[in-house]
Amino acid sequence: MAVARSALHEGAGPTGVFTRHDIHGDTVIDCDVVIVGSGAGGSPIAAELAEAGFDVVVVEEGPYYQTRDFTADTSAMVRQLYRDGGATIAIGNPPIMFQEGRAVGGSTVINGGMSWRTPDDILDRWRKEAGLDVDGKSLDPYFSRVEKRIHVAPNDPEAIGNENLLLKRGADKMGWKYVSNLRNQVHCIGSNRCAFGCPTGAKQSALVSYIPRALHYGARVYADVKVDRMTFHGKRATGVLGRVVNTESGKSHRVVVRAQLVVAACGAIHTPALLARSGLSSRSGRLGKNLGLHPNIKIIALFDEDVTSWKGVHQAFQVREFVEQGLGCFAAVNLPPSVTAMSLPHKGRALGEIMDRYNNMVVAGLLVEDTTSGNVKIINGRPQAFYQLADRDIVTMQKGLVLLSEMMFAAGAKKILLPFHHASEMLSADDTRRFFSKPIPASSWELFTVHMMGTCAMGSDRTTSVTDEFGFMHDVDRLLISDASVFPTPCRVNPMETIMTLATRSAGYVIDNAGRLFS
Ligand SMILES: Cc1cc2nc3c(=O)[nH]c(=O)nc-3n(C[C@H](O)[C@H](O)[C@H](O)COP(=O)(O)OP(=O)(O)OC[C@H]3O[C@@H](n4cnc5c(N)ncnc54)[C@H](O)[C@@H]3O)c2cc1C
Ligand code: SF4
Repeated sequence: MAVARSALHEGAGPTGVFTRHDIHGDTVIDCDVVIVGSGAGGSPIAAELAEAGFDVVVVEEGPYYQTRDFTADTSAMVRQLYRDGGATIAIGNPPIMFQEGRAVGGSTVINGGMSWRTPDDILDRWRKEAGLDVDGKSLDPYFSRVEKRIHVAPNDPEAIGNENLLLKRGADKMGWKYVSNLRNQVHCIGSNRCAFGCPTGAKQSALVSYIPRALHYGARVYADVKVDRMTFHGKRATGVLGRVVNTESGKSHRVVVRAQLVVAACGAIHTPALLARSGLSSRSGRLGKNLGLHPNIKIIALFDEDVTSWKGVHQAFQVREFVEQGLGCFAAVNLPPSVTAMSLPHKGRALGEIMDRYNNMVVAGLLVEDTTSGNVKIINGRPQAFYQLADRDIVTMQKGLVLLSEMMFAAGAKKILLPFHHASEMLSADDTRRFFSKPIPASSWELFTVHMMGTCAMGSDRTTSVTDEFGFMHDVDRLLISDASVFPTPCRVNPMETIMTLATRSAGYVIDNAGRLFS
């Protein structure tokens, strides 16, 4: 058996970060708390508990990259930072493509940085439907703490690009309500690379906020280590079993972590898989169920003027006029040329001609608050998501696309490309209305999402929920779940701040109950 040793070569990570290059044989690690996953749910717990004096180990399947590693090579960044190169699908008709981060910092490394508190009416719903003792007031100290740690602030005005100003112009013309985004950033320069690793370090992802804080307080981070399952003594969680693969040498070593408290923070797709691989089930029957997705769809609006949408922050405004009708928001999001071209239905010369106008494009999308749920099944140890979009959510989406087109025409767009193979170019809002007056086969919808939630739902009743209201799995001792999987229902807004806030609250509970949990 060999033990982990410090990284010594130039370019290595800071003290406390270990990668596949540092693990040269089967390894056993002891600690107070082991946290599996280092994203929005795992990293705040790591920092809070390390700061409180616990010996914390974070185990992350993805690699450890630093700000200096983030380049303008989009396809390389997608391969390195996205799970399965970003091509993961929830099976259904239509299928929904979803994306997750796989790196130290989790999906926060590739997210847009929008940071919103959970809306009061959602918390109200969680109180009534799941029996959680939460409201805006009781969560305020936790929200505030998270906002301080990740620097939630309005964008600097000069970081806002034309595509977002056009979206705002459209909303103003229609007289619709919009909000300026709050983001976790410090003087972001608007390079619009948030989804591929922020090259300036302005975005305060977990990689540059919570993880360094955890390391400062003595936590250890093991990157490139995939946890296969948890270990138990009776009903008590005692640690995890994983493995590191050195991709260069092809050698694989076992990594065993023994701990007093085990935290699963692998995200809403992978946490239920880890629990199932570990032989756990929930008497509620809801483990892996209740998958919420916030389905998204996008259009491309073509303007005569130069938009230069690659300049400016990832998203600056959200139009929230139709929240009560299930449309969480409309937003403008720049996509790099390669990603835009891939998503267009055009082929050959037609594709070339459209892409020639990349400079004039605004990619605008909408998010639907889903009214149904899917599930995650475990097939040969791997998770597979299934999600059948509800008919009424399709109707909502259809209404949303008409409204969004109308707004972009009001902003001055000359043409709109809808994401359907059989759609020609829309030259007016009436064209869009006419297009949607005929039924559209479900299989034609091209949907995607980056918000997966709810597969280990919290609740006060163990017969209807997987964890208690602090995230401890019912009927298992010392197993805490801290990620998007604990949401009782979709949260409507971008979920990162809610996840971090619940994680901070769970950390507080652990600290308050340390006498019992660490006996
Ligand atoms: C492109 C994109 C843009 C987004 N934009 C926003 C935004 O602007 N605002 C917002 O609020 N939200 C946004 N989100 C969503 C938000 O980032 C996620 O909801 C959030 O990060 C999820 O937190 P999590 O802890 O559940 O999972 P993650 O942050 O995904 O972390 C899970 C981690 O666990 C690791 N892991 C999984 N299985 C194992 C295993 N077996 N062993 C070891 N490690 C494992 C994964 O590699 C990953 O690093 C975006 C997401 C994406 C992908
Ligand atoms: S727009 Fe650029 S600088 Fe700003 S947070 Fe995103 S990647 Fe970083």
